[in-house]
Amino acid sequence: MAQAKAAWVDFKAIKSQVSIAQILERYGVFQTLAKSGNGDRLSGACPIHGGSNKTHFRVSVSKNCWNCFGQCQSGGNIIDFVAKKEGIEFRDAAVLIQKWFLSVSKTQQTAVAAPERQTTMVVAPVVSETSPIPVLKEASESASDEMADEATNKVLKFALNKLDATHPYLRERGLTEEAIAAFGLGYCGKGLLRGYIAIPIHNMEGELVAYAGRWPGTPEEGVGKYKLPQGFRKNIELFNQHRAASCDSDSPLVVVEGYLDAIKLHQAGYERVVAVMGSSLSTEQEACLYRLCEADERVVLFFDNDEAGRKGQADALIRLSKRLYVHTVDLGSREVQPEHLSPDELRALLPFPEGRLP
Ligand SMILES: [Zn+2]
Repeated sequence: MAQAKAAWVDFKAIKSQVSIAQILERYGVFQTLAKSGNGDRLSGACPIHGGSNKTHFRVSVSKNCWNCFGQCQSGGNIIDFVAKKEGIEFRDAAVLIQKWFLSVSKTQQTAVAAPERQTTMVVAPVVSETSPIPVLKEASESASDEMADEATNKVLKFALNKLDATHPYLRERGLTEEAIAAFGLGYCGKGLLRGYIAIPIHNMEGELVAYAGRWPGTPEEGVGKYKLPQGFRKNIELFNQHRAASCDSDSPLVVVEGYLDAIKLHQAGYERVVAVMGSSLSTEQEACLYRLCEADERVVLFFDNDEAGRKGQADALIRLSKRLYVHTVDLGSREVQPEHLSPDELRALLPFPEGRLP
């Protein structure tokens, strides 16, 4: 279509000026979603793949993004949503959104349904009394977040797709086939992570931001046990945060140190788990935890029972206790870490069998 070809697309303006609520409203989906977290979090059946599971489709209004944990197994921003929903290319979806909500010429504006209201709301983040979308102001907030906040990890433009999920090391560590697949683990045969087990790390929105490498076994001299890409800031992410964000909040969030601790807990049925990827909680990670939890919610700290872990856990306990109800796991004098415990041992230690509070 000549029109689409000629159209100039400002992806950034589209993402910052149009809210996910507006998009969902346009498809008549917005009202069907359940709201929580002061209206910031929406959930319901996925409008893209058309499933009936009412927890699969999740939206963060403030972050202007969505995820489908069902058949789509994907997520993203408003443009990704329209692209998936319409079955069209990303760029064409952007052109479409621009046409719907951001047409600048006066003649075009009158042709689009109620464009004046939309435009007014974007410019002045004040919700009119007649507005069917009380969360529109969030769009401008997330736009300013994006500009002010430099501290984000870039989303990877590639994915490693030739990882060997059958590598014996994964089984030696007691990982199940399901967990290996769910976390996308595998042995990497080439590139920067050659010789390592690759562990995908995602941001809160479920976008892939890095692969961590874990050497399968005891590394030789001069080879690090773990490898992270240069420039990647692990202190601003929590491993498994995007999956934890999609879990029901009636199971307390468990915070552990390492990737394998988190995966082992997931295997034992504690899916609402995140790892700090070290032995201390950074202030940025603390902020991530507050995004994952409601005020006064319960969290469980389950760090390694070694000197660094005890110190990191004690510090996290003091900080988090100001806003959350924090449990710690008592391992007594056993110098162990969660990944070394069997599912039965984990269930005996955690204060909520079956992943839920009694
Ligand atoms: Zn879906």
